[in-house]
Amino acid sequence: MKTALVTGGAQGIGHGIVSRLRNDGWRVAIFDLDREALDEMQAGDVDLLCHAVDVGDEGQVVEAARAVADWIGPQGLDLLVSNAGISDPVSGPLEDLSLADWRRWQDSHVTGAFLTIRALLPLLRQARGSIVTMASTRALQSEPDCEAYAAAKGALVAMTHALAVSLGPEVRANCILPGWIETGPWQKSANRSAPAHSDRDRDQHPVGRVGRVEDIAGLVVWLASDEAGFITGQRFVVDGGMSVRMIYAD
Ligand code: NAD
Repeated sequence: MKTALVTGGAQGIGHGIVSRLRNDGWRVAIFDLDREALDEMQAGDVDLLCHAVDVGDEGQVVEAARAVADWIGPQGLDLLVSNAGISDPVSGPLEDLSLADWRRWQDSHVTGAFLTIRALLPLLRQARGSIVTMASTRALQSEPDCEAYAAAKGALVAMTHALAVSLGPEVRANCILPGWIETGPWQKSANRSAPAHSDRDRDQHPVGRVGRVEDIAGLVVWLASDEAGFITGQRFVVDGGMSVRMIYAD
């Protein structure tokens, strides 16, 4: 049975990835900040290994990684999905952005990926596994007032090609850049919502719809498979074509 760790796996895209992996027969561990969401995941699937972890906290990550090592045993880790992070892209006007808030974005995305990957690397090497990092199309394009998020996501893209070069041939690393992915149905029950998209929401995507967590989960599973064995250090935009549409002002 293949093994995976998904950070931020208790809600949203991470939850969708966990679900897909479990349906495909993987053993899955989750690191997430939100205890309530983790409890719900655990109640729905007793075989998950759920840990309340802030991925930006070195001590917590090291301790939880030890628990993962014990749980996995000699087989090692086949897949690490570094997905956790503050999903709100708007940090506000630059003049009002405090250093503490800037660091919160960098810590949850970039430092979190660094700490998690470093702590799980021996297990990944053991299994000749692979890493998938979760960036965003906002690493490549922006709305106003999103400097902290854009910087964090750009850093993840760059870190991923560096990882590919450092960790090959044992471990591959690739980066997914999602566009607009609807996560309402994948939140903990207190925050769950049904998708409600307007024609305008759909029509701005060349594929005619907003993204689903399944669109990301499918790519994660494929990137972790032997079929993707010649692919490392790459970035994959999954946005229904939204970022390639040319826009002329009227
Ligand atoms: P979400 O908020 O629905 O879920 C994120 C999960 O990560 C939550 O369960 C949260 O508790 C957890 N988390 C946040 N910070 C954490 C930390 N420091 N340590 C541990 N867990 C933490 O978000 P989502 O929309 O599913 O986004 C998941 C990833 O995908 C994020 O990295 C986000 O930036 C990226 N992304 C999302 C979209 C989108 O449209 N949904 C688009 C592009 C990129």
